[in-house]
Amino acid sequence: MSDEEVQLEARLEEQDVFEPPESFVEQANVADPAIYDEFEEEGPDAWERAADLLDWESEWDQVLDDSDAPFYEWFTDGKLNASENCLDRHLDDRGEAAAIEWIGELGEKRTYSYSELHREVNEFAAALRDLGVEEDDVVTMYMPMIPELPVAMLACARIGAPHSVVFAGFSADALATRMESADSEYLVTCDGYYRRGDPLPHKEKANEGLEDVGHDVETVVVDRLDDDYDHPMKDGEHDYDELVGEHAGATVEPVTRDAEDMLFLMYTSGTTGQPKGVKHTTGGYLSYAAWTSHAVLDVKPDDTYWCSADIGWITGHSYIVYGPLALGTTTVMYEGTPDYPEKDRLWEIVDEYDVTQLYTAPTAIRAFMKWGKEYPDSHDLSSLRLLGTVGEPINPRAWKWYYKHIGKESCPVVDTWWQTETGGMMLTTLPAIGEMKPGTAGPPLPGISADVVDVSGDPVGAGKAGYLVVNQPWPGMLRTLYKNDERFVDEYWREYSNPDRDEWVYFPEDGAKIDEGGYITVLGRVDDVLNVSGHRLGTMEIESAIVGVEGVAEAAVVGGDHEIKGEAVYAYVITEDGTEETEALKERIVEGVEDAIGPIARPEAIIFTPELPKTRSGKIMRRLLEEIANGEELGDTSTLRNPDVVSDIQSKMSGD
Ligand code: ATP
Ligand code: MG
Repeated sequence: MSDEEVQLEARLEEQDVFEPPESFVEQANVADPAIYDEFEEEGPDAWERAADLLDWESEWDQVLDDSDAPFYEWFTDGKLNASENCLDRHLDDRGEAAAIEWIGELGEKRTYSYSELHREVNEFAAALRDLGVEEDDVVTMYMPMIPELPVAMLACARIGAPHSVVFAGFSADALATRMESADSEYLVTCDGYYRRGDPLPHKEKANEGLEDVGHDVETVVVDRLDDDYDHPMKDGEHDYDELVGEHAGATVEPVTRDAEDMLFLMYTSGTTGQPKGVKHTTGGYLSYAAWTSHAVLDVKPDDTYWCSADIGWITGHSYIVYGPLALGTTTVMYEGTPDYPEKDRLWEIVDEYDVTQLYTAPTAIRAFMKWGKEYPDSHDLSSLRLLGTVGEPINPRAWKWYYKHIGKESCPVVDTWWQTETGGMMLTTLPAIGEMKPGTAGPPLPGISADVVDVSGDPVGAGKAGYLVVNQPWPGMLRTLYKNDERFVDEYWREYSNPDRDEWVYFPEDGAKIDEGGYITVLGRVDDVLNVSGHRLGTMEIESAIVGVEGVAEAAVVGGDHEIKGEAVYAYVITEDGTEETEALKERIVEGVEDAIGPIARPEAIIFTPELPKTRSGKIMRRLLEEIANGEELGDTSTLRNPDVVSDIQSKMSGD
């Protein structure tokens, strides 16, 4: 590094607060801080702004009906169709503009203009109807990142059939459980897909799942692998291309849906117990996805916007498909992995397509950081205007790296906290308004009321850790858990509400802390809080301190049983490329933790490991690390993305 770079690096390290870049503010969709007061003064009616981003066949009677809380209803009696809003209404102005830029694993490219996407959605909607799909039938999709997935979702929306997308990386079992739970009699899947250039069969897994489904299923299969894979078809199954071909030129009138009609079901990953079928609606969800895309991601029709999540997660539903398409922009869809064929794949795409916004996950950012800045540096990233992160807490060092090496210090970074259940973003800065504090998601969005409370529901005040709660309903909220109202109330509303006084508080099951400025740092799931000698410590805080140590790329902290302390801190650490795993480094890590938090958080053990066990959604599977720390027998590892790493860590621990 040159002297100048060293100085710059040092300055960044010291800096805790960043102002929105001037050039961004000048052109932002939402730049007036008065928006916060407006929401406050107008109450629920303020949400008409969100609904007004859509076309309605008929207007709503009431913005919010809270007469049967917590079963809230939004935009009651309003009528609309989501597919109409994402396609038809853009045809006049943007028919020839790209709706989806799809980039395949092997480097193939497919551009769908709005009119092309509209045509294929109509054809597939007609085909689904012919197969017998009726309004309110749940259609399951078990597909990777291929364009037929959003086509199928929008086709379902067109005919009023809720979709339930099951992440392609999930097991046959997971597919079967979800299809059973939703009584879903239709499945759209594919023969397979490519991973690192090699064909990966998928249809066999789907078949295996179907064997465990107790009712008949009509299956449609997309042929992604052509001659690379001869997939096993069962009797009576349908080939996607043939179906669409048979319905070439068909048009299907968008079905009029009530605002409160279900748009889709999304099962949460179920890393915590039985999968929950989160129900989202047509009016409230779509308004919320469109509004947050507009206000937080600053999406404009002329943008080339890219969210690198998988559509199998809520992030992809809201911010690859529904939000961006409702706003008529170009949304990028990438099938592959960030390091194939090379570690600069993402930057190559940003450069080639002149991507304007990039929305990704901290786990990806930490990987980019580990690989080094030479990869982004070898491309022109000047088209970028805004950066975002989602999915887990981001440590300040990774935030700053993203801000500097990807955003070149001229893009705001929005750290967005939200969940499957919330439908869209909840805590984050507005990119042209709020100052950014690395590591802290930010204040609640306008119209969202959140706080951090103790076990009895009282606000903890600045600086202390507690439980995150949301005190007011919002349009994107889940309406219930599919066919399980009771569990819906138990899971999210029992803890902090006061039903006798009709006070309803939503509990996201996350730990958090809040600062004087009202910025909220989400620490992770409540079960990610350790209790060391009676002190509550967020694993994320300790991890952040460790990752702040020079030479450390990533860290995961769990609690191991301890006779005296109750729990003790176990730290699993990945070093940066080129850094040796030495005792001296361990000492510096201990010092780093003691400096940042205090001796109470001093790690009992530091274990160097080449990788961390992660779920397919990129979340560290702490339960496993705990079991390893305690020398217990390991539970289910089938939802891991990298199951091999477990034995590596175990052998490392016994060798130490
Ligand atoms: P399950 O609920 O089935 O166990 P999950 O919670 O991993 O799965 P998601 O709804 O995809 O499924 O993840 C939401 C969770 O991710 C949040 O509750 C929070 O713990 C974490 N999270 C998301 N964004 C952020 C963020 N910006 N900062 C901190 N944590 C985040
Ligand atoms: Mg969750």
